Amino acid sequence: MLKSLEIAGFKSFAKKTELHFKSRVTAIVGPNGSGKSNVAEAFRFALGEQSIKSMRGKRGEDLIWNGSTEIGRSNRANVKLVFDNSKNLFSLDFEEIVIERVVNRDGGNEYYLNGSLVRLKDIFELLSQAHIGASGHHIISQGEADRILSANIKERKEMIEDALGLKIYQYKREESERKLLKTEENIKQVESLRREIAPHIKFLKKQAEKVEKAEELRVKLSKFYREYLKREQVYIESQNNSIKKEKEPIVGQLKDLNKKMEEAKEILIASESKDQKSEELLNTENEIKKERENKDNLYREVGKIEGEINVNKRNIEKIETDQRSEENKTIPLKEVEELEKEVSTYLEITKIIEKIRNFIISHRSKLDNKHLDRLNEENDSLIKIKVELEDKIMKVEESLSELSSKYQKIKESIEKEKDSSREAEKTMFKISGEQSNLRNRLNILEMETRRVSSLEEDWKREIKEGGVLLGTAILGFENDEIPNLEEVPASAESYGVAREEKRRELEKMKIRLEELGGGEGVEVMKEYKDSIERDEFLLKELEDLKNSAKSLEQLIKELLLKLDVEFKQGIEKINKSFHEFFSLMFGGGEAKLEIVKSKKVRKYENLEMDEDGESIRTNKSSMLDALDLPSFEDGDFGEAMGGIDISVSLPRKRTKGLEMLSGGERALTSIALLFAVSAVNPPPFIILDETDAALDEANSKKYGDMIESLSKVSQLILITHNRETMSRAGVIYGVTMGRDGVSRLLSIAFDEAVAVAK
Ligand code: ATP
Repeated sequence: MLKSLEIAGFKSFAKKTELHFKSRVTAIVGPNGSGKSNVAEAFRFALGEQSIKSMRGKRGEDLIWNGSTEIGRSNRANVKLVFDNSKNLFSLDFEEIVIERVVNRDGGNEYYLNGSLVRLKDIFELLSQAHIGASGHHIISQGEADRILSANIKERKEMIEDALGLKIYQYKREESERKLLKTEENIKQVESLRREIAPHIKFLKKQAEKVEKAEELRVKLSKFYREYLKREQVYIESQNNSIKKEKEPIVGQLKDLNKKMEEAKEILIASESKDQKSEELLNTENEIKKERENKDNLYREVGKIEGEINVNKRNIEKIETDQRSEENKTIPLKEVEELEKEVSTYLEITKIIEKIRNFIISHRSKLDNKHLDRLNEENDSLIKIKVELEDKIMKVEESLSELSSKYQKIKESIEKEKDSSREAEKTMFKISGEQSNLRNRLNILEMETRRVSSLEEDWKREIKEGGVLLGTAILGFENDEIPNLEEVPASAESYGVAREEKRRELEKMKIRLEELGGGEGVEVMKEYKDSIERDEFLLKELEDLKNSAKSLEQLIKELLLKLDVEFKQGIEKINKSFHEFFSLMFGGGEAKLEIVKSKKVRKYENLEMDEDGESIRTNKSSMLDALDLPSFEDGDFGEAMGGIDISVSLPRKRTKGLEMLSGGERALTSIALLFAVSAVNPPPFIILDETDAALDEANSKKYGDMIESLSKVSQLILITHNRETMSRAGVIYGVTMGRDGVSRLLSIAFDEAVAVAK
């Protein structure tokens, strides 16, 4: 049951205002424009009304206290509805249920359930359980009393469905249909996805087969390649070894031969001094000749000097002989005359004697001794020369003897050297023969080395290429064990032929592998696997979707059945009650609701648009087509889909039909229907805003009676100016509005209310 309403900042209720509904009937009274209808709208607002227009506004902002000259505007409007839940009106385990809505100036709304922020949907669900529909069939706004009469048949049907609490099935049906359509869309999407990826999978399958083939080939190639590389390695190693083995001694031999050759050369070079020696020999010969001549000359000179000495000796002997015969010597007269002249000059005798003595002496020595001395002197010097010459001769003799022994020696050495150079020449000849043989062999080995190293280069390059082509599959081939590895090929040529054969085979395989698209295998296989998995996933999803479509179809079918049955039953009950209220109001007459079949709608399968333009089914090929509804006769669903007509006939009047009713009659009819509907499926509370405005006193009384009986099933909040209506209320609230434009509430007594209402 409704406990209280709290309004703050909503419309004219600037300040927090509370209404307590302690009575089954509460009346709200007050002068025009004081804010009574704003209270009814506060209810609508709190219950989640989405049409601002139905709350007399254009935007959410219009619902917020807009301010007056005295009081500034609010930033938010806030309305709280409090329900007593002790009788489990709501299926929530709370004694009290508080529904709250807030609107901000930016138009944003918040909904709270017992203080927790919730979604609008949650509020709707909660309320519909308690038969408080969002369509507001239990809130009749001012001037809306005959809304149910003026509505078209479809709207009317909706109102009645809502009032009967069938809206929940409609929601569920609509939701299920939406879900079904969505599911169908999804099915189509998944099917189209599958169709889309099918060619790709087909393509990938081919690719994958190719990859598998490539993989086989790769394995084969790897094996072949490894074996080839291993064999090449072994062959190259063995070739290198045998070349080395053969080369080493040859190099050693050549070294020896070179040494020997050097030695022989040295000998030859040494023998080249032979010419030098011959020259020396010649020189010595010349020297000997010279020395001999020298010796001869010396002898000749000695002879000459000996001659001279002999001559001198003979002269000396002659002089000495002559000297011995000097007493007979003759002195020229002239000299004696000169002596007499000189002595005659001298007076002293002594002088004369001395003179004569000197005279004699001068003649004696003057003649012999002088000459003799000279000769002796000459001879002495000749002898001296002779001795010197003889000395020289001796020396010459010595030198001659030396020279001749030297000559002999040179001659002998020349003879000897002539022999050894002949020997060396012979040796050299022999060595150079051997050398050229060895060098030839070495050249051949060199060629071999070049051949093998070119094989090795190829081999190394092939390892790299293999790595690029086969990746790690090529690694470690060195450790492979292969039969007949050590088998030595007959010749390099035969090996070369076999090798070329293998290389051609390898090349063929490589090309084939490249054609099969060597490297992308892993990705392709992964993509293929992924695609298949995805397709399987889609297939599974498709199954799930089809299953859920099936269960949705089933649900829709069930809901339609339920709606149909309950709607028909509800209409029957309403008609009973409607008739009673109507005849009570008019003192007789007839009134009833009639189900109108949709003219266009025949069978559900053919349903596209109903006559009011509502799109029920848009897709003929949809799953709904497959709905099997054999139990429904042609047109049965039309009732559910069609509308509600009202037929009335007043007592004692011939006129029939709603159009013929007067304003008061219209008001009475709609109140009767409203009450009938409410009585069949009573909502927890009903708000009636001046529904009684058009009633005269007599009818006001009847209206009051109906209110009293209705209040037994629903709590009533009545906005009214009607005295009679006020008199039926347990609690009366008076609404006033001061100069500040703010609505205020006060609980008042009946007499006050009558006064206020005026
Ligand atoms: P009547 O008896 O004539 O039907 P009432 O008592 O039902 O009148 P309401 O229609 O509820 O009166 O109140 C209308 C009053 O509320 C007007 O004076 C209007 O200016 C005021 N009002 C409406 N919206 C706002 C708002 N956002 N801010 C302030 N005042 C507002």
